[in-house]
Amino acid sequence: MNKRVVIALGGNALGKDIDEQKVAVAKTAQVIVDLAQQGLEIVITHGNGPQVGMIQDAMDNVVVRYKIYKQVPLPSSIAMSQGYIGIDLQNAIKYELRRRNMDTKVSTILSQVEVDKNDPAFQHPTKPIGRFMTKEEAEINEAHGIPCMEDAGRGYRIVVASPMPKRIRELETIKTLLAAGHIVIACGGGGMPVIEENGKLSGVNAVVDKDNVSCLLAQNLDADRLVILTAVEHAALNYRKENQVWLSDISVEEAKKYVAEGHFAPGSMLPKVEASIRFAESKPGRRSLITLLDKASDGLAGKTGTVITL
Ligand code: ADP
Ligand code: MG
Repeated sequence: MNKRVVIALGGNALGKDIDEQKVAVAKTAQVIVDLAQQGLEIVITHGNGPQVGMIQDAMDNVVVRYKIYKQVPLPSSIAMSQGYIGIDLQNAIKYELRRRNMDTKVSTILSQVEVDKNDPAFQHPTKPIGRFMTKEEAEINEAHGIPCMEDAGRGYRIVVASPMPKRIRELETIKTLLAAGHIVIACGGGGMPVIEENGKLSGVNAVVDKDNVSCLLAQNLDADRLVILTAVEHAALNYRKENQVWLSDISVEEAKKYVAEGHFAPGSMLPKVEASIRFAESKPGRRSLITLLDKASDGLAGKTGTVITL
């Protein structure tokens, strides 16, 4: 049987604006099609930070400028970003497949992810989103009940909760397409966060971490590998310090120890390592890989990257 992989693409696989995106997805498509050519079953997830920020900014400006429009809620902007990124990625992959005379199908699924409305994350918003503001602008938002925070010395931003994903609503659709041989793009931007009440789904003002949702998706699809492609070839101990050590093959136990020792930055490497641990320990034989986009094939062949196993 073919190996099934869930591949989480980071910001560097997509670029930050429309021109960068066109260039970035062309390169990403080559990596994906290399893996498809090896016979892997592939589901792709991706981030959307800069893209959803741009969409929300555009929507903010429209509201400020024209009184007839209402603010577009964050979950709707997430859904828009799934379409905006998904279509470019899908087309780039199709182009690369055609170039290699492969007729694999590619589909993008607008995905919703259920979260628990009692998730403690809602009490402590941690995820900065959207444009950078002055302190004064942030104070105006705060006065309207919209929490803001100072973001790494770069200015103020709106901050939202990042709850854990509970259930991927489009899971059956993703499974069906995968079984039909499609490369599936799903759960973009962590998925549109929703809660279900009385049989009705409604979007919530939050962002689900794409590494966390990729882990859930990989488990739900009974994938063999969770592959997190990012801007570094390995996770490191003492990152960017003079005693830095790149990690190759590590056990779940070792990874947990390094997490507890605080080696991985929250919001960037930590969710990747935590998602990798959760996937690797969910069933014997499951492996997680964190590496560079260009190193995906080598990483899956065991030649590089940080591999986490039980
Ligand atoms: P992505 O868009 O792929 O999710 P992130 O910027 O969120 O990318 O996370 C990857 C980044 O995490 C790396 O580029 C690196 O700068 C940072 N990072 C933080 N801690 C570590 C660590 N211990 N080892 C390696 N990279 C780390
Ligand atoms: Mg990230």
